Amino acid sequence: MSKIDLKTPIQFLKGVGPKLADKLKKLGVETVSDAIYFFPREYEDRSNPTAIGELQNDSGQVVIKGEISAIYHQQTRSRFSIMKVSIYDRTGSIQAVWFNQPFLDRLFRQGMRLIISGKVEYSEFDGVRQITVKDFEIDTGQNLSIVPRYPLTEGIYPKKMVGIVQASLDASLSEIEEWLPEELIKRYKLSDLQSSIKSLHHPAKMAKIGPARRRLAFDDFFLFQLGIALKKEGRKKEQGLSFKPDRTLIEQFIKTLPFELTTAQNKVVAEIFADMERAQPMNRLLQGDVGSGKTIVAAIAAINAINNGYQVALMAPTEILAQQHYAKLSKLLSNVKVALMTRVSKPKERADLYIGTHALIQSNVVYEKLGLVIIDEQHRFGVEQRSALAKKGKTPDVLVMTATPIPRSLSLTIYGELDKSVIDELPPGRTPIKTHFVPGSKRRSSYNFIREKIKEGRQVYVVCPLVEESEKSDLKAAKAEAIRLQEIFAEYQVGLIHGRMKSVEKERIMKKFAQNKIHILVSTTVIEVGIDVPNATVMLIEHVERFGLSQLHQLRGRIGRGEEQSFCFMIGEVKTDEAKERVKAMQESTDGFHIAEIDLKLRGPGDFFGTRQSGLPLFRVADIIRDERILNEARLAAFELIKKDEKYARNLWESQRDKIKSAGISVI
Ligand code: ADP
Ligand code: MG
Repeated sequence: MSKIDLKTPIQFLKGVGPKLADKLKKLGVETVSDAIYFFPREYEDRSNPTAIGELQNDSGQVVIKGEISAIYHQQTRSRFSIMKVSIYDRTGSIQAVWFNQPFLDRLFRQGMRLIISGKVEYSEFDGVRQITVKDFEIDTGQNLSIVPRYPLTEGIYPKKMVGIVQASLDASLSEIEEWLPEELIKRYKLSDLQSSIKSLHHPAKMAKIGPARRRLAFDDFFLFQLGIALKKEGRKKEQGLSFKPDRTLIEQFIKTLPFELTTAQNKVVAEIFADMERAQPMNRLLQGDVGSGKTIVAAIAAINAINNGYQVALMAPTEILAQQHYAKLSKLLSNVKVALMTRVSKPKERADLYIGTHALIQSNVVYEKLGLVIIDEQHRFGVEQRSALAKKGKTPDVLVMTATPIPRSLSLTIYGELDKSVIDELPPGRTPIKTHFVPGSKRRSSYNFIREKIKEGRQVYVVCPLVEESEKSDLKAAKAEAIRLQEIFAEYQVGLIHGRMKSVEKERIMKKFAQNKIHILVSTTVIEVGIDVPNATVMLIEHVERFGLSQLHQLRGRIGRGEEQSFCFMIGEVKTDEAKERVKAMQESTDGFHIAEIDLKLRGPGDFFGTRQSGLPLFRVADIIRDERILNEARLAAFELIKKDEKYARNLWESQRDKIKSAGISVI
């Protein structure tokens, strides 16, 4: 057999073979190098076993070391096997129990020394304290004192995994080359690569794990940020458009608004204008909580491009939202030709501003002079859809907007190549929404409250879960809820809106709701984004436990849009700890960024955006939440390296880039 090296398929490693290799593939381990970079998820510290005499019933998971004094093997009639062993050390003795492992009978001898980890329990049956064994090994005096625990998959056992990794390390760790510039290693006090890898698999003591993790997490982040930084650098060299703002015209427009721009809106407009004036393509992310007034900022940017003789495309994720933007902006921008482009509405003449859904990117749509692309609620689009719209022009400026406040660590990772603007204040005169959890038994009183509010002239949303539009039973439930509420609120008009409706129908319902001809609107999550009916001041969310925290916050953003006090009621069966945390966060805060941070902690970065947003890179070691500080250092280091020596940085990236498995570095 030829020599094993880093690139050797794992199947050729001693003791693996094709069957096991198939299973390892599920864990992302295909080569020897993959195995070397496949790190434990946790460790079991066996260096300080508990004295047997000190074990308590509620000791939880413990490790003991001792000698076998007696062995009992019971086989029940149903061939069920129970193995019991008395084990003692200087301080006492205890019974250890294994279930259904009859072969142990042949292994154990009196006087044999074992290291056991397991849980201490009181056995009702024997009336004694015992340890139910989770893992054990024969104490040879040379055992690992810290045992790595790797992620596993069906058919691969812990010890096998340890063996595979160990064999890979033995064969090829010495081939792993240092790749970070010496200077960075010194400046950031990083440990050497080979010994970090070794320590992360087999730490001599627990204290060695931290520095080793730090080194490998730095590698993950640094490489990723290097890719981002190079991409950003490349964009700077692209020839883009330069839009000179006509201040008087813009001022005139702003004067026609029924309100003054907030300080935050003014700041953001200035940032966007500076980008637009520069002859490099703009790539800017505008973050602002629901209701912070992003639309008007987008409109001002659009006017700027149109004044300069270019066309603008504004893309929204739903027809309702596109229609709403169209209605609002065509009224607001009286000198601009605005067109709506959706599945059902196709403009016939040239327009200055196209507003639409993803119909805007269909292949037969041609823009003469597309200069600015704006994407609303951008997290609802895939990466390809966003870049497809930009490709309709020749290096147009791009502004993407989101009401999902993204924690900084996450945004540096997925949006690391975008410049950022944040609207961090709400327009004045808004009263914070009052949010309450309502137990099922108090449902009636919330209905009484709703009735009072409708009497005062207000309107109400009732939200039912419909996570995927295909879930038929949920749809039925929403319909049934509308009928039920119509009976309870017989004197008022109850409406229903959901994603399966034809868009003309949705439009009709929304219009009636906006005109206060519908008092209670039962809806699935189609209203989640952007809908703006300031007179709706009450929201009741059914089955609150089925919504994610960020989604709840988004939903709640439909109310609290006017000066009236708004109220959000959450009803549901809140049983899991996580659901309780979500409800608590909703009651305690209306700050989208704060809520997003909590959501990220509860769900982890992978789930934060749901399955749609898969632009997240899979790091081998780095954890976006835990390692935020390392992320910041690595980002700084990457950007500085490019400033110092771009050619070197580019070569480094090219030679290492395949180390990042999913390099999702392509937002636009
Ligand atoms: P979002 O950021 O969620 O897209 P919108 O752009 O829909 O928010 O704005 C929410 C509401 O606030 C709209 O009714 C809008 O007209 C209003 N609004 C925007 N800016 C201001 C402001 N500076 N002062 C008062 N109201 C504003
Ligand atoms: Mg909006």
